Amino acid sequence: MTTVKSSNLGYPRLGEQREWKKLLESFWKEDIDVLTFEKTAKALRLTNLKKQIDAGIDIVPVADNSNYDHVLDTATAFNLIPTRFGSYDRPLTLNEYYDIARGNKENVAADMTKWFNINYHYTVTEFDNTTPRLLENRWLKYWQEANDELGINGKPVIVGPVTLIKLGKLNGDYVSSESDINKLLDVILPLYQQVFTELQQAGVNWVQLDEPTLVKLEDEAGVAPYRRVVEALREAAPSLNIELQTYFDSIDPYQAVTQLPVQAIGLDFVHGHGENLAHVREFGFPKDKVLAAGVIDGHNVWTADLSKKLQLVRELQDAASELWIQPSNTLLHVPITTKYETAAGPELLGGLAFADEKLQEIVTLTQTLNGQDTRAALAKNTAALKALNESKARNNASVQTAIKHLGDTVFERQGKYVDRAIAQQDRLQLPKLPTTTIGSFPQSSEVRAKRAAWRKGRLSDEAYQAFIESETKRWLKIQEDIGLDVLVHGEFERTDMVEYFGQKLDGFYATQNGWVQSYGSRGVRPPVIFGDVDYTEPITVAASQFAQSQTKKIVKGMLTAPLTIINWSFVRDDIDRADVQNQIALALRQEVLNLEKAGIKIIQVDEPALREGLPLKQRSWQDYLDEAVYSFKITTSGVGNETQIHTHMCYSDFEDIIDTISALDADVISIETSRSHGEIISAFEDADYDKQIGLGVYDIHSPRIPTVDEIADNIRRGLKVIDEKQFWVNPDCGLKTRTEDQTKTALTNLEKARNIVLKEL
Ligand code: GLN
Ligand code: ZN
Repeated sequence: MTTVKSSNLGYPRLGEQREWKKLLESFWKEDIDVLTFEKTAKALRLTNLKKQIDAGIDIVPVADNSNYDHVLDTATAFNLIPTRFGSYDRPLTLNEYYDIARGNKENVAADMTKWFNINYHYTVTEFDNTTPRLLENRWLKYWQEANDELGINGKPVIVGPVTLIKLGKLNGDYVSSESDINKLLDVILPLYQQVFTELQQAGVNWVQLDEPTLVKLEDEAGVAPYRRVVEALREAAPSLNIELQTYFDSIDPYQAVTQLPVQAIGLDFVHGHGENLAHVREFGFPKDKVLAAGVIDGHNVWTADLSKKLQLVRELQDAASELWIQPSNTLLHVPITTKYETAAGPELLGGLAFADEKLQEIVTLTQTLNGQDTRAALAKNTAALKALNESKARNNASVQTAIKHLGDTVFERQGKYVDRAIAQQDRLQLPKLPTTTIGSFPQSSEVRAKRAAWRKGRLSDEAYQAFIESETKRWLKIQEDIGLDVLVHGEFERTDMVEYFGQKLDGFYATQNGWVQSYGSRGVRPPVIFGDVDYTEPITVAASQFAQSQTKKIVKGMLTAPLTIINWSFVRDDIDRADVQNQIALALRQEVLNLEKAGIKIIQVDEPALREGLPLKQRSWQDYLDEAVYSFKITTSGVGNETQIHTHMCYSDFEDIIDTISALDADVISIETSRSHGEIISAFEDADYDKQIGLGVYDIHSPRIPTVDEIADNIRRGLKVIDEKQFWVNPDCGLKTRTEDQTKTALTNLEKARNIVLKEL
């Protein structure tokens, strides 16, 4: 048996103190010049590599660094540039690169969208009218740098051509047909060949070819383009070893993929319901390849149970002739180190593993298989997990009993929608085509400054509270003056719709430094759900009640739904995700009932993350959607018929989940339609949707102010397919990123447009 090796797939860019973010932003502000930028970026790259080497990782990834996004890096290296930004025959300057990523005075930025099912956004490649050519072999450049400076033979990481193609657009649509893929490969593949040839010549040993789109294939037929790619690359660089890397799920055409002519196959043994392991058991693993086993979770933050992982890697070691141990995907998607989490408390801290701690786990597993004495590390691991599992936070008897007794309880509203609608209209007395907004109003610099001062202790609780109330009052008056029918309090007390609830519920930990890159220089700090989630005190009741006391109009209560909370958090993995979701639902159910008791007549429960969290494989969708419906109904079904439940979703491709939306049984749903009116409306038409719908009648994402005519037209178009009795008029999302002026003018136009159309009825 050859020795087992430790390998990594990529390292976070941000820097322990977000140095990378600061670097990008100071360059954008022109506080530093290109030379300073390059010098600092290089120092950061080397620090990141050195950390991996010092941790004891045998096979260290290089060229996984980026000045923005790795998909954009790949596209720009090959001159795959949206035509509005020109075409090049030399490497792009930093400014030219950022123009594509961020837009400039003349042109809007390239599209950005979610990377698989995680919270990272990549730049979408546009293949129309491009002249692909290799402008710069960045993989060689960064390999050479690591070789010169640190003396390592690193493993360049490159986005594979099929994945690059499938995640890009041609004529406005994602590339999917085999003939389009092959046509694009005709021109792109020779460039990849050139990259590989040059790498081989330089003395590179291994290349990591990322083809994560392999996990989406349902059958062997789809493997053909990937086979074409690896055969061509082998021909171009016969002595360069390829690690064909997949992640985020299991591989359905397992045999076809593992038989591809490469030297290592990277498989995810954390996600994908154990299917990769089942395949290894059933079909074995080819003897002529390295099994690169992703056994440490690359998109969660928990300390791995090393004794369980040891069983797994031992089994894999028996199945394969050569084994590497690695994370399930690049560590880009987890925070860097737990060492700044001084507020976590010892039980939680021991249970957390960010990138650096995960590297240690990989090394410990590798050393153990290689016969080294790792007893101390393993004992420490066992003790840490035991402490967390036995902690009070994970043993909340009343929450656990409630979850156990959920059983098959069906959560339904008291009455059917038709009866509820009558009871609600009796009470609410709303006009036809009622107007409202989605919840938040501008988080002005003043709002942010006051919050920052309060957090730093420079503003007292009372003064902060008084400010929030005055802002709420001011905006209630603005809404009344405009003439809106259903008002909101404005969400001035919240920075973020998930973080806010995390702060008020038991079982959540807000990290001090747990930043992960969301897109570009933008980092997020997802809350960590580590314990049983419990409701200890009302969360939003006081704010809603205050707002309602200030006006005769109806004020909507405003909550975030369970699925969105867990999709935007790091979720404990010692119990079922569905149980965590339902714990949150039970807590929010109490909040909903408390709002009702406090006299709040309309309660909106936002579920914006429903669609983006859909599993990668369609066969898993139904379970996910059923769970979403179940937890939404736990949250909302306790109220009387006369209380109106709203929900909001900010995306527009609904066709394939319309049954789920209907099953939520919300009385009113508001959705983002302003950018894609046609399709969505016909989706609702086809589905015979009988409840009320608020169609987003203008796009809040743009600073542009919609005209009265334009909004009126949108309303008229909607009314062609949706009955006037079901129709609400609202913007397509919350207004927190807009200015006060933009908001007031746009809402005034919205109100005018509604009144014009009302007269036409
Ligand atoms: N109520 C939230 C807001 O208006 C909804 C945000 C969202 O849909 N993402 O800000
Ligand atoms: Zn929204």
